[in-house]
Amino acid sequence: MSSAPERDGRPLVYGLRIGVWYATLFVAGSMAIVTLTYLLASASLAQRDRQLIDSKLGLYATAYDRGGLDALAATVQAEQQTAPERLFVRVVDRGAEAIVLSQPQGWDVASLETGSIRLADGTLVQVGKSTEARDDLLARFRAALGLVTLSVVLIALTGGVIATQTAVKPIRQLTEAVQRIIATGRTDSRVPIAEHRDSIDELSALFNAMLDKIEGLVTGMRGALDNVSHDLRTPMTRLRASAELALAGPPDIGRYREALADCVEEADRVLVMLTTLMDITEAESGAMPLKREPVALADIVSRAVDLYRDTADAKGVTLAASADDGVRASVDRTRLEQVAANLLDNAIKYTAAGGRVEVSARREGGRAVLRVSDTGLGIPPDEQPRIWDRLFRGDQSRAERGLGLGLSLVKAVVEAHGGAVSVDSQLGHGSTFTVSLPPEP
Ligand code: ADP
Repeated sequence: MSSAPERDGRPLVYGLRIGVWYATLFVAGSMAIVTLTYLLASASLAQRDRQLIDSKLGLYATAYDRGGLDALAATVQAEQQTAPERLFVRVVDRGAEAIVLSQPQGWDVASLETGSIRLADGTLVQVGKSTEARDDLLARFRAALGLVTLSVVLIALTGGVIATQTAVKPIRQLTEAVQRIIATGRTDSRVPIAEHRDSIDELSALFNAMLDKIEGLVTGMRGALDNVSHDLRTPMTRLRASAELALAGPPDIGRYREALADCVEEADRVLVMLTTLMDITEAESGAMPLKREPVALADIVSRAVDLYRDTADAKGVTLAASADDGVRASVDRTRLEQVAANLLDNAIKYTAAGGRVEVSARREGGRAVLRVSDTGLGIPPDEQPRIWDRLFRGDQSRAERGLGLGLSLVKAVVEAHGGAVSVDSQLGHGSTFTVSLPPEP
């Protein structure tokens, strides 16, 4: 348990790691876009200046060709008066003598974007444009981009933290639930599930379903243990009493033998009871392993009848069987045989000589139906709802052997198969037990 706080933080660290990754990628992407935008803007401004310089050089070359230096000077002057942007213009003749035709006041010649053209007579015409305005624009652009980048980083970090915390919340809840279960051993903890069901919610729902199942099993087993320990107390006390009584008197081999025979009988009862109780609990809790296969109910009927033919004959009870063709169900053969045997055993047991017991297999409304009816004692209406309870024995059946577990097992096994069992009985006229099983898939 000492490592619990350490485990606590894991989803948080995981969330933080995803958040940092997300924010880093987001910021890197945004920076790349911002840098590209800046470079494109800067290149486009430089290109615009170059185009302007080239067009002026063309204009001045034409003027010079037309009227020499005077025409060039006149054009420059006219240009300087009308054009919005004033330019630096210099002419260098073949004698390398430079004549500056225009140099706007206060210009720093070093921060000029320049271009030149050499005319046919070797004269060099140079045009320069100040980069000051451009640099100023780019500086403001850089400041704006800086602000944008800062906002992007803040948004990315906040968004990253919120998004990842939301994403890891169900994982954290799952972890907390598991920790609670480990720490307390209680399986009643459940993970909350959001309304919009995403894949993590599906996982949480499955986890809850698994806990339901485990809780059912644990509760079932605990109940079984309580029942078994309670139900075994009586036969164990009887067993002990037999032995104690035999030991109490003077040594007598005949009495000892009798007491030992009683003990063996009682021990057998205890063993049968134990096995049946465990079977009932397993079936009720859903833990009973069922080897399902398509089974023809006619086979079940004929095996049960074969098994009880002698008992029925010995008691003078007529045993009849009938089965529709092709009635099949997907069941565990051994368990269904056990169900049929228990019902048939009761029917013969609670029917007096001269009575009749019928076993049938039918297809009714798409379901496979196994029916055992007798013309025996019948069950009083007030007892009918209780006959399915563990260890319940009817008033008039006390004379018969039995543990009061047969019908509980029948019900648990049939329901474990997804089926249902019911009784229709009239006191003094007989009973009909109906097992209805879902059809083959
Ligand atoms: P057991 O037969 O060992 O007493 P069961 O669980 O099989 O236990 O049956 C519970 C009770 O239901 C019986 O004690 C009896 O009172 C009643 N019962 C079951 N089957 C029949 C039947 N075919 N006819 C009359 N009573 C029955």
